[in-house]
Amino acid sequence: MSDPVFEGGCLCGAVRYRATGEPSLVCFCHCRLCQRASGAPVVPWASFSTERVEWTAGRPTSYAASTWAIRGFCARCGTPLTFQFNDRPESIDLTLASLDRPQALKPTLHIHTSSRVEWLTLSDDLPAYPGPPPKS
Ligand SMILES: [Zn+2]
Ligand SMILES: [Zn+2]
Repeated sequence: MSDPVFEGGCLCGAVRYRATGEPSLVCFCHCRLCQRASGAPVVPWASFSTERVEWTAGRPTSYAASTWAIRGFCARCGTPLTFQFNDRPESIDLTLASLDRPQALKPTLHIHTSSRVEWLTLSDDLPAYPGPPPKS
């Protein structure tokens, strides 16, 4: 069996990517940085091996939103695309909703729910963590 392929990109199409293989983690993040960077109350992410993500059109522009991580987005349309910890360059997170088929992957947990906005009701039974995901 061949590895699954996940393709996606930003709203304007200037930046496109292809990720190969199963993600190591798919989660909803409720942290304040994701909220601010996206303008949305929660951001679903999928973590891939960096070497298995290729940029098929353009490249994301990076912003160091904190001292420990960088965020990538389309410089033209602003779509948030990536998140990467400085001390974990071997892994990169892609915004799940930027996939051409976001339904192809399903989040399995919620993280940073200590900053979940209270008007957002979660009705799933997924595990929720007030901080980062537990170390695997
Ligand atoms: Zn764009
Ligand atoms: Zn976050």
